[in-house]
Amino acid sequence: MRIIQYPHPTLRRLSKPLTRVDDELRRIVAEMFELMYEAKGIGLAANQVDLPYRMFILNLEGNPSKPELERVFLNPVLSHPKGSSEAEEGCLSLPGLYAQVKRPERVTITAYDLSGSEVQETIDGLFSRAAQHETDHLDGTLFIDRLSPTAKADLRETLEDFEIEFDDRRQRGEIPDDQQIAARWAELEALRT
Ligand code: ZN
Repeated sequence: MRIIQYPHPTLRRLSKPLTRVDDELRRIVAEMFELMYEAKGIGLAANQVDLPYRMFILNLEGNPSKPELERVFLNPVLSHPKGSSEAEEGCLSLPGLYAQVKRPERVTITAYDLSGSEVQETIDGLFSRAAQHETDHLDGTLFIDRLSPTAKADLRETLEDFEIEFDDRRQRGEIPDDQQIAARWAELEALRT
């Protein structure tokens, strides 16, 4: 398992709801936390590790010695957006790139946790921003899609560098072609969605 980067097609996949929690899913989640901490992140969506499932994890301090802050959200749904706030965001799939993103200040998140229980919380601040950023991932949306055209134009060269690097890695055979990626999605979705 590894974190994939823009413009990998799985980052644009509409992730499918999970149908059960089992040991294999718990193993996947544990591995996602390891990767997230290694990359110094505070959140990670399943499709960022090339798994097309509706699931994300958070540790808002990004601190592996505070496992009590670890949260897992399966099949999250956001509702009741209120207010507006702007803050800087980054993304483990676009390392080194940061920009101000405007989002609702408060949302209600409804999801399942790893014990299969339904959770519902009204959240704000960093928690709200991170949950919105990660839920966006599951819908195939990246934070760069939420920028104004001028802000995005400022990032154009950096995005092109990511695109060139992706093409190079594909040519070296390190990344499968679109057909192989689609076949893998179908396999993984048949397995647990
Ligand atoms: Zn991200």
